Amino acid sequence: MEKIKMTTPLVEMDGDEMTRILWKMIKENLLEPFIDLKTEYYDLGLKYRNETDDQVTVDSANATKKYGVAVKCATITPNAARVTEYNLKEMWKSPNGTIRAMLDGTVFRTPIVVKGIEPCVRNWKKPITIARHAYGDVYKNMEMVIPGPGKVELVYTAEDGTETRELVHHYTSAGVAQGMHNLDNSIESFARSCFNYALDTKQDLWFATKDTISKKYDHTFKDIFQDIFDEEYGEKFKAAGIEYFYTLIDDAVARVMKAEGGFIWACKNYDGDVMSDMVSSAFGSLAMMTSVLVSPEGYYEYEAAHGTVQRHYYKHLKGEETSTNSVATIFAWTGALRKRGELDGNQKLMEFADRLERATVDTIESGKMTKDLALITTIPNPTVLNSEEFIKVIAERL
Ligand code: NAP
Ligand code: MG
Repeated sequence: MEKIKMTTPLVEMDGDEMTRILWKMIKENLLEPFIDLKTEYYDLGLKYRNETDDQVTVDSANATKKYGVAVKCATITPNAARVTEYNLKEMWKSPNGTIRAMLDGTVFRTPIVVKGIEPCVRNWKKPITIARHAYGDVYKNMEMVIPGPGKVELVYTAEDGTETRELVHHYTSAGVAQGMHNLDNSIESFARSCFNYALDTKQDLWFATKDTISKKYDHTFKDIFQDIFDEEYGEKFKAAGIEYFYTLIDDAVARVMKAEGGFIWACKNYDGDVMSDMVSSAFGSLAMMTSVLVSPEGYYEYEAAHGTVQRHYYKHLKGEETSTNSVATIFAWTGALRKRGELDGNQKLMEFADRLERATVDTIESGKMTKDLALITTIPNPTVLNSEEFIKVIAERL
């Protein structure tokens, strides 16, 4: 069989621990036999990040800007324990944070829906994608404990020194206060990423805030979305047969529970934090969740939503068998290959991505799966496979 050719390389960001082991197996068994795989390789494993003073992460993000599409393996975000374990020069920042800051993107998380792994919400038939704004609000706030009577004000001092004041509260007893902010251009990027992704995936876009209560803060989000939609996207959405829909956050929550899925739900930072955990756990498993960072310029970085599965890796190091689910990592590759194919007009590459996804889903639906899924499936008597067997069975089917 002739291998599928690629014209432009994918930016490949290798990672850590168990997912690094899966990464290699996926390439050897599911990709290289079928594709003349062209990648520009960056080793984001913690050892090499430390050797390069984390320059490799910056280089990989720049390569993503150059080529447009990246696929990333899960990586360790160092904490104190990791500094000791890997003898690090510094507690390097989260690679995802660095890449997100450089690409200025929005993260979209989508569950992989298969028969036999049923969502807790009975009427959810199609995936619900959460798009979380990743800048500001309560995550970049300033808080104060108010010890007793007095007043708290918001003060804006313009460049020319003029002041505008708003009374937050006149305290007659102790309490708390909080100040937070956001930026028009960050909200604009968020909006464009969401509209682009909706067009890309031909799904309706929902957006919700609490603008009836937050008449300036949240209302600004609502207005920016609406203005950009009207000016740049209205016609495109009509042509694609999809819809942009704004509502109040509490109404959105109620509708989501009654919906059948198949749409993108754009959330402000805090709402996205909370709702993505709710949606992902209700769909079944973190190991079945893909994630893509979409920049407003149209750069894409695909990855699994889960981490490096450290506990399994330590078992693996001891020579014990693991049954780690590779589905989300496989879908990171198929997402990236499909996008690469789309940008290069490479139909064969796009079809390959579809076939690999189909083979993966069919494998699970035929009752063959890793342990995490076997524990929650409604399929009777599933066959539990180890990490490598699962990938090999998919390869056979492919
Ligand atoms: P994790 O790697 O997502 O794993 C947490 C637990 O979830 C695992 O112990 C396992 O449960 C289950 N799990 C997750 N993915 C699985 C899979 N593919 N197959 C089977 N089970 C799976 O989170 P963590 O242990 O909190 O973090 C480990 C490392 O990953 C940390 O160093 C963290 O910094 C990093 N991390 C990276 C990213 C990223 O690169 N995007 C994201 C999150 C975390 P059982 O042990 O019960 O089997
Ligand atoms: Mg959270």
